[in-house]
Amino acid sequence: MPVTVMVAGGAPLGGELRVPGDKSISHRALCIGALGEGTSVVRGLSDGDDVRRTRDALAALGAEVHDDGDVVTVSGGRGVLHAPGAPLDCGNSGTGMRLLAGLVAGLDGETVLVGDASLSSRPMDRVAAPLSAMGATVTGRGPRCFPPLTVKGGGLQGVEWTPEVASAQVKSAVLLAGLSASGVTVVHEPVRTRTHTEELLESAGADIEVVDDGVGRTVRVRASPLEPLDLIVPGDPSQAAFWVVAGCIVPESAIRVRAIYAGATRTGFLGVLVRMGASVDVVTRLRDGGSCADVAARSAPLSGTVVHASEIPSLDEVPALALAAASAEGTTRFVGMGELRVKESDRLEGTARLVEAMGAAARVEGDDLVIEGVRPGGLRHFRFDSGGDHRMAMAAAVAALAAGPGESRIDGFSGVATSYPAFLQHLRHLGGGARVQLVAIDGPAGSGKSTVSTEIAARLGVARLDTGAMYRAVAWAALERGVDPSDAPAVAELARDAAIDPGPPDVSIDGVVVTGAIRDAPVNAAVSTVAANPAVRATLVERQRAWAAAHGGGVVEGRDIGTVVFPDADVKVFLTATPEERVRRRHDEAADGIARRDELDTTRAASPLARADDAKLVDTTGRTVDDVVDEVLSWLR
Ligand code: C5P
Repeated sequence: MPVTVMVAGGAPLGGELRVPGDKSISHRALCIGALGEGTSVVRGLSDGDDVRRTRDALAALGAEVHDDGDVVTVSGGRGVLHAPGAPLDCGNSGTGMRLLAGLVAGLDGETVLVGDASLSSRPMDRVAAPLSAMGATVTGRGPRCFPPLTVKGGGLQGVEWTPEVASAQVKSAVLLAGLSASGVTVVHEPVRTRTHTEELLESAGADIEVVDDGVGRTVRVRASPLEPLDLIVPGDPSQAAFWVVAGCIVPESAIRVRAIYAGATRTGFLGVLVRMGASVDVVTRLRDGGSCADVAARSAPLSGTVVHASEIPSLDEVPALALAAASAEGTTRFVGMGELRVKESDRLEGTARLVEAMGAAARVEGDDLVIEGVRPGGLRHFRFDSGGDHRMAMAAAVAALAAGPGESRIDGFSGVATSYPAFLQHLRHLGGGARVQLVAIDGPAGSGKSTVSTEIAARLGVARLDTGAMYRAVAWAALERGVDPSDAPAVAELARDAAIDPGPPDVSIDGVVVTGAIRDAPVNAAVSTVAANPAVRATLVERQRAWAAAHGGGVVEGRDIGTVVFPDADVKVFLTATPEERVRRRHDEAADGIARRDELDTTRAASPLARADDAKLVDTTGRTVDDVVDEVLSWLR
């Protein structure tokens, strides 16, 4: 996932798609599947990093997990799971950590749960308290119990618990622990939260009872063997919310999101949009048992409203709804949004900042978020740092789509991999434009291009293209097929007809892997002659541009990237090093060979090796890779 993404507005969006499998259901299906006696089969699981962490954690606890990309099977059972030898890494996922805390509280022994920097600053006291009351010992950092979280489990007793703040994660942790406790475990919810855990436990045949009074609910559970699940995970309504809002606010758009989970605790955002005047149609999919719906949204004028936290219990859809508020006539007040402060980032602050950046007004009053909308056409492009929070990054992308012609820059985008790896693909599928930065790196042999460009690509989270490998592949094929490298028409024809895959990992031409062979002496000796052929260059330059278009940008290294291939690159770098240093680095190539290649490359008529006027000159002699990379990245900020 790229770190920085530029999203363009100005085009209407249209089409239909399926969002990833619901994250909440996915985490729970895995945990309950792992506790079941037998093999659970789950289709449509979320493919984000968060759910992958939970899957890996359960495998570390002893469950057998198979993933063929489509179907995931989990075999476990109470007698199989055991405290792991090493900490369980929950990555960025608060749901994963809280659910797993409940599950491991039921296991004898000690489990340590760790997370990334963002998760490590999220309080776990609300799960620690009930689990401790059940007999587990749960410790974290400080009184709010920040991760790492150590859970000493086993010997649990049922508890009657009323969470201070409505939370599906806390409820689920207590219920999962309750499956291993003696006696009855009861959770009273003054306000009903997501009901997935109870629903899945019911389908696994748990000894569970739910009393729902329409506002709150009480759930009772007793230890009992669980049957394996057979489940298709419906689409995630919280992810669908981004596209539904995009359909509502990007002028002249019509978007349909298929097969999302449509339970009442998850679709409150649709009611809010309808109240604002949005054109939203919900069609229940009866063949999926009624818990699933297709949602279609069309752009229409919106007006402000009052949104209560109880309408959207997890608050996950608030950043998306705030965009609707920003493009609505009048004021929208989101009431009681304090919990947003302890999500993956402080989303109360982040949402207000995003709304301001896009040209509307936002203020935080106590726990309320108040947004004054601007008329259609009043939104503008912006630069926004999501701080790595996936939902803030996706909200910013939708804001950019609605901001009219032009482009917004969103930093911290790579967090989207935690929940929605295909987000940018889907954005393009609907007709939106998204690109990453294009970095052009030129320089002579041995100047450090490959090492530096590989590291820059890794740090930016983008793809890298080694154009030299493409010229080398053509030279290799010419030699292999007995074509004289200086026979310009013959080599040009060869290049035109050849299918070249520049990798990574492997370079191939017409299906033959040549990763190693293109670095051999005969190719070193022939490549500059092949590269001086204008027709070969025309063919390869066209493919290099097509590569960048397909990847939306990236890091491209070669000899003519800043001058000819991408004269509009976001940053151009020309690397050099002293001749001695370059020869030392290319120890597998003779010094006179390198000198000859440089001579041919700089003196040829067709796009010779040259520094573009606006390329930054960097002498890499005696410098570390990190040092050079830091300098180049500083030009992109
Ligand atoms: O980068 P590398 O040393 O592998 O490139 C091999 C040769 O390919 C260069 O010496 C040069 O002749 C040619 N080349 C080029 N234009 C590029 C990349 C490489 O002419 N963009």
